[in-house]
Amino acid sequence: MTGAARPSARLLESALRRAQPLSALLELTYACNWRCVFCYNPRHHDGRRLDGAEWSAVIADLRELGTLNVTLTGGEPLAHPDAFSVMEDVRRRAMTFRLFTNGSLVTEEVAARLAALRPVAVELSLHGARPETHDLTTATPGSFDALWRGVAALKRHQVPVVLKTPLSRLNERELEEMTTLAEREGVPYNVDATLTHRDDGDPGPLQFSVTREGLGRFYAFLAGRNALPRSHRTPGGVNCGLGRATLAVDPEGNVYPCPQWRKSSLGNVRDARLADLWRGSPVRGEAADVAVRANDALLAGGGPMARFPFCPAVAFERTGDAVHADPLHVAQAEAAEQARLAAAPGPAPLETGA
Ligand code: SF4
Repeated sequence: MTGAARPSARLLESALRRAQPLSALLELTYACNWRCVFCYNPRHHDGRRLDGAEWSAVIADLRELGTLNVTLTGGEPLAHPDAFSVMEDVRRRAMTFRLFTNGSLVTEEVAARLAALRPVAVELSLHGARPETHDLTTATPGSFDALWRGVAALKRHQVPVVLKTPLSRLNERELEEMTTLAEREGVPYNVDATLTHRDDGDPGPLQFSVTREGLGRFYAFLAGRNALPRSHRTPGGVNCGLGRATLAVDPEGNVYPCPQWRKSSLGNVRDARLADLWRGSPVRGEAADVAVRANDALLAGGGPMARFPFCPAVAFERTGDAVHADPLHVAQAEAAEQARLAAAPGPAPLETGA
């Protein structure tokens, strides 16, 4: 269960020190032809979404800021009429990109155009091992078959594919089967058990969160594959790239200090250049400070808290406190720790000399 290559540790360390947004997430549109029940996009449709020329200015500024990797997402990013001009702009400026798509708009022609742009990966969500589970999650009959048609077209054109699953109470019992499907396809597979509030703060998606038993099974499954998530914290370090190594731009041009942080915006690219917002906004500095304080707080928690990855943006959505572990985070960290201990080999038997 691994994704494609991520920035090297040294590159990331340097970006964190210099506040260089190494990775940027660009949400091209809220529009989507599916209706996933736990979608985190706000319920409203795009206001006046950025067009290709406006995205082009954003991408030029990303290059100036030292961004290397761009992720294009939505909604369904291929629903944006200028999606390909945005991808071409990214490549023209010598940055790499990933595309998150539901796969339904990936025709043979789209797959061929994507192949020519050489993305790092095209990532698609698998919501169940069975059509009925997948289609129930997307609230779209036929979406399971549409996903696999997209995957097949991408593979025919040698586009690197990654499958991923937001684990929920709807599909948690199909984890092994979904893993088997991904392995049969020969593609990397990532599973995430954290559902989040909608970007407008609506907690509705959380009603589909994985059950406590499902969470235990998930971590046991990961432990069996030596793939439990782990954080390596050091005193004085940072929790994550929040406000330093990552940024996000939503379909209407609002800029955020990471993909998940919607608490406060650095400003809008229609009012100021992205490069100026990044360098001058106090919001970025405040967010970067949260990443330091969160690291300190988690380290002080010791044990599983210190070892388990923490997302300040998700914690803020849940409790209004971005620095300290919330009850759900504590439950996840403890479940992961129990799975780790259960999977660890016991102590070596004592030699008796008999
Ligand atoms: S706040 Fe969460 S989403 Fe944002 S960079 Fe940190 S861990 Fe990642």
